[in-house]
Amino acid sequence: MSSDPGIEDSAAQAWSIDLPDAGSTRSTYINEARWSEDGSRLFVSRTVDPRAWPLLDAARPDIGALMVVAGILAIVICVARMFRRPRTAGRSYCRRCNHDLNAVHGERPSALRCPECGLSLDGRGVVRGFGRGLRLARVGIPALVTVACGVAIFRTSVAPPQPRRLNSAWPVAVQAVSPNWPWWRRSTIDEPEQLKLRIDVIRVDAGGLRLESSAILAGSAPDWVARADGTAVAWAEDSPDTGWVPRVAWFDTVGGRGGSVDLAPAQTGFPAICGWSPDDREIVALVQFTGSTYSTRDDGTAIVDTAVMAIDPETGTVRTVGHGRGRATGTGGPPAAWQIGPTIAALGTDPHARAVTLAAEHEQHSSAQSTAGGLALRELTVIGDSGVQVIPLAGEWVEASWGLHRAWITTDGRLGVEFTAYPNTNPKLQRGPQRFIDLTSGAVSDPPLSTTAAYPATSRTNGPSPDGSRHVRIEVDWSAPDTVSRIGVVVTPAPPPHPSLRTSPATR
Ligand SMILES: [Zn+2]
Repeated sequence: MSSDPGIEDSAAQAWSIDLPDAGSTRSTYINEARWSEDGSRLFVSRTVDPRAWPLLDAARPDIGALMVVAGILAIVICVARMFRRPRTAGRSYCRRCNHDLNAVHGERPSALRCPECGLSLDGRGVVRGFGRGLRLARVGIPALVTVACGVAIFRTSVAPPQPRRLNSAWPVAVQAVSPNWPWWRRSTIDEPEQLKLRIDVIRVDAGGLRLESSAILAGSAPDWVARADGTAVAWAEDSPDTGWVPRVAWFDTVGGRGGSVDLAPAQTGFPAICGWSPDDREIVALVQFTGSTYSTRDDGTAIVDTAVMAIDPETGTVRTVGHGRGRATGTGGPPAAWQIGPTIAALGTDPHARAVTLAAEHEQHSSAQSTAGGLALRELTVIGDSGVQVIPLAGEWVEASWGLHRAWITTDGRLGVEFTAYPNTNPKLQRGPQRFIDLTSGAVSDPPLSTTAAYPATSRTNGPSPDGSRHVRIEVDWSAPDTVSRIGVVVTPAPPPHPSLRTSPATR
């Protein structure tokens, strides 16, 4: 047996694991597999319907209505029977015809059959009479409880109409004939708010793949950031689910525990997740306060007060590091119409730059090849011990990007920014583009070639691990109608780099 050890090695290193609960997957955006920066973990995210019984949940208003009808019907029947079949407490009656057996036979019925209808009187043929109050209570109390539960279920699953919300009427058939029908389902299988982002964390080590933990994030596609060693994931929440309270939530991928903390009162600002502190202990987030006194500038933009916050997931404490600047475009009104641009922050250890915010705006650019949306970088705010310094940026434009994913301060004193790329705009682009911004001059540069050659460190879609030794791909079984029957995560030794990926920086 003298086979090539390299080949045997390769075969031994191909691992695969199936994700749990594949059937809850509700979207085609299921194949994001992101490596932690140290390559120890894989984060596979997908949009799911987290409800265990979505059809039962969708039927809640129907169930509630049925319970109300059934409860009322039971009381009506009970009252009707009390009049139609009068009984006296302590006497015995024939179950079928209500014949008073005691009137003929004394205390206990002695006959084997009812003298009226001939029903056999052994066992369940004899019914004991109760007084009216007790008779009504025996049926009426459970019936009233059923009605009350039915009303509660109905009220929590049906709402008055809400404009411009994708929703469906209750009962379903009424929607077609009456568009202004006043009752609407809150829970249907196709209501988008019900969808959540699920992250499965897979530990990758010499022993293979192991499902470490899973978390379900509020909202269908919140942006999230993992700690460099993959032991925690953090994201911002701001949705009807949380009452529009700007909030940061996290979960510990090792212990599987989660937590959250409110950053500001409800409806006062928009939260954004930014990354982790330089020592990886604190979550960095910001809140752009909508109560800012917008004052229109010549270029139609306004400055938005932006608090940079550090959250310790161990204790849940929030520390406001400083206030930077975000930007909004629009008009002062009335009615005021401002669109707040994406802003991101990073923490530093230098007294000159304790925190930095970067403000950007959405822009549309046309070229001979395409019309592409992108982000224009506007302004850098450096928050130091001695004050706040604002550095305008010369409108550097980042193509095919719709947001700011995370930021950090490099050891040579620059702000590193990773952008969120439009999916599938560039198949060679394995994650959002990156830029590095000098904190003194505002000069913007591309990342060093070592991180764009082949694949960069934190691949946002299928791709190699940070050290390039392994490669992940997602296998989805769509063969069953309307459902995903299997999602497999396959980790193999890395294939040889594709020539076109080696030579192209791929971000321009
Ligand atoms: Zn009878």
